[in-house]
Amino acid sequence: MKFRGGYNVLLQGRPGHSVNIMPEPKVLYLPLRTRRFNFSDICVEDGQQVNMGDTLVTDPGNYSIPLLAPRTGKARLNAVEGHIVLEEITKYDKQPKTSHADLPHIERGAGASAVNRDKMVSLGSWEFVSDAYDGKVPDPKGKPQAVIVSTISLEPFVARGDVQLQNRLLKFTRGLEHLQSFLEYQPIYLVMPKLKSTLSLRVKEHVRGHAWVKIIEVPLKYPNDNFGILARGLGLKSSDGPIWCLKTEGVLAADRALTISHPSLVRIVSVGGPETKTPVHIKAMTGYPINLIVEKYTAGKNVRVIDGGMLTGKTADDQGLGINSECRGLTLMTEHTEREFLGFVRPGFDRKSYAPCFLSALRVKFKERLTTAIFGEERPCVDCNFCEEVCPAGIMPHLLHKYLYADLIEEACDGRVDLCVKCGLCSYVCPSKIELREQFAMAQDQIEREKEEARLDAIKQEKRRLAEEARREKAEQEAQENA
Ligand code: SF4
Ligand code: SF4
Repeated sequence: MKFRGGYNVLLQGRPGHSVNIMPEPKVLYLPLRTRRFNFSDICVEDGQQVNMGDTLVTDPGNYSIPLLAPRTGKARLNAVEGHIVLEEITKYDKQPKTSHADLPHIERGAGASAVNRDKMVSLGSWEFVSDAYDGKVPDPKGKPQAVIVSTISLEPFVARGDVQLQNRLLKFTRGLEHLQSFLEYQPIYLVMPKLKSTLSLRVKEHVRGHAWVKIIEVPLKYPNDNFGILARGLGLKSSDGPIWCLKTEGVLAADRALTISHPSLVRIVSVGGPETKTPVHIKAMTGYPINLIVEKYTAGKNVRVIDGGMLTGKTADDQGLGINSECRGLTLMTEHTEREFLGFVRPGFDRKSYAPCFLSALRVKFKERLTTAIFGEERPCVDCNFCEEVCPAGIMPHLLHKYLYADLIEEACDGRVDLCVKCGLCSYVCPSKIELREQFAMAQDQIEREKEEARLDAIKQEKRRLAEEARREKAEQEAQENA
């Protein structure tokens, strides 16, 4: 497989291998909105006592994926806007288990595959599956053309696959077998780092003998772990059907649901970034208060919390008081508050940049202590071409930016803005700090909306045409009968 572009961003604050278990909280704040989900079909009443693993709410737009209660407690629906709050939490002593008899909505006599797919959805494991090309949740009843499983995460700072695989290799292999049971002849591509580590050798040892698993080794350069890039590299076309994609935690969740019928209630989340005292991975349930994590892992006063990785994450705001079900990392950065006089002419001995224009270029490899500061934003494009050099999609971000800036959406379509995988590298390397990634994501949304509107318009017109034809035929028939 050949890869284009890419660049490894070296920043201070990479979490190590250890996984810390967070202390039991008193309250959980479960966000109703995440990157892909909008949980809106409430299944409990305000003040209702719920058990661990109960469904609190589902997302009707995403195959009724549930938001499960991570602990036993009292559900509050109106305490904090955009959240279900779980109070009076009690520590569990037994994991909730679901049997086939607890799934009465499954048709009697449904095959093992239908039961297992439904189990994946109702036990919260299906939410770990995404489609390679559009990133959305695929239809659990659908047939994929292939499955891609990635054990690597290259964006700083999100939970890494090697950390999650430690001591869980058997479960991982069993999870792969469960996934294979959904397939007929389609392959499972297992993406591994192209290096000889003890762990990768052990993984290879475990999957040896499973002919349906094809190992793909990729160089450790961001964003070679991106599913869209991998699917294109493997020659899988979006027109040939969905491509199910999972990271390590998704395979482990599938094993959990299908081997022991347990829901996935905890997440391994990385806590990293320059403001983290000790960058670590933590084990915490969904809804865990973010402020408790921040208090525990930083001593800083002005800290910006990013939900997700450094390049694609979003600032965590009041919309997310607790860890959401899709959270894989929290990045803690120094909030830049002081204005530095003539900051833009600093020689930049401590600034890491793709452009070799700072004095830092004279230093050997070092990690930058990044802050939220940008020195003179909204500068025009200087045609340096860095964005094109790093772009893994082989498009010309600077050209697309100019088209979109001038509202030339059709030209942007011709320039294949649809190929952008939103990795954020172009925005990172851009010396003018242009928000290219966001601009392209908005353009893709607009194009998709316009396509959907055109499709609905075409359906309406067709319906109108058929109604008109039927009316004309009826009138002709009546005229013939009268004659
Ligand atoms: S244009 Fe898209 S794919 Fe290319 S570097 Fe930018 S965000 Fe990544
Ligand atoms: S990196 Fe920024 S300044 Fe350089 S060509 Fe791309 S958009 Fe223009």
